Amino acid sequence: MMPRQLADWLFESTSTIVFTGAGISTESGIPDFRSPGGIWEHAQPVDFNDFVASEDSRIEYWRQKSEAHSEYFDAQPNVGHEILARWESQQRLDGLITQNIDGLHQAAGSHKVLEIHGTAREVSCLECGKRDSATGPVAEFLETGVPPRCSDCNGSLKHATISFGQMLDTAVLEQCAEWARSCDLFVAMGSSLVVHPAAGLPEMAKAHGARLVIINRDPTPCDSLADLTIQGSLGESLKAVDDCLETLGHQ
Ligand code: NAD
Repeated sequence: MMPRQLADWLFESTSTIVFTGAGISTESGIPDFRSPGGIWEHAQPVDFNDFVASEDSRIEYWRQKSEAHSEYFDAQPNVGHEILARWESQQRLDGLITQNIDGLHQAAGSHKVLEIHGTAREVSCLECGKRDSATGPVAEFLETGVPPRCSDCNGSLKHATISFGQMLDTAVLEQCAEWARSCDLFVAMGSSLVVHPAAGLPEMAKAHGARLVIINRDPTPCDSLADLTIQGSLGESLKAVDDCLETLGHQ
């Protein structure tokens, strides 16, 4: 019943935006932050100001990131990522905003992706901004134990993700807000919707007249705003919606 409702709305919509959080990737084997067994049970993240100020913090940062590297790089997109990529190619989706840093939406074939928190697949130099694949610097750190530096300007290299205490990219955020304000259907999935300003996007979409749908295993603070909530596994829920869309397409 609920998947059918979302399928109807996707079918009617002229502009749909999807917003994803860590929950879309747990079925690819990447733990989320807040569920039991999540990342924060093992390590305290390094604050950006500490990273800039101290070599010890940079070593701890690179230790954590190198440990997590293969988890991100070896992960494969799951059925949820694949369905969203297909919906984009079928022009059912106008854009996908993600909090995730794992790059799995692009690996599944999504193109119109805004990564609010950046990507763990690349590093960037804090001095000159040069970007590169994260694989080489991670291998270098694992071999030497020394935080890698930029080959052009010798600046500190850091993953191209937004750390705690680091500014979000305002151009990316403004584009996300523009999408949230102009869509007529906003579907948030796999996020606890507690990290701001990203978690304000569903509220913004709703305030500008969009239908709001939330798909998540656990309740979120935005559920009372939503026109529809679907509680359960994302893979199963998206598959059910996709099956309903197929049926609608043949009617
Ligand atoms: P979160 O950990 O706060 O919340 C994840 C939500 O997903 C939870 O409410 C949980 O109930 C739900 N969930 C987990 N598995 C699910 C499944 N299979 N089906 C349906 N629901 C499921 O994640 P968040 O809100 O995205 O915030 C965490 C922050 O950490 C993000 O900003 C992100 O940058 C970062 N992060 C990213 C990754 C990644 O890139 N894969 C992983 C962990 C954390």
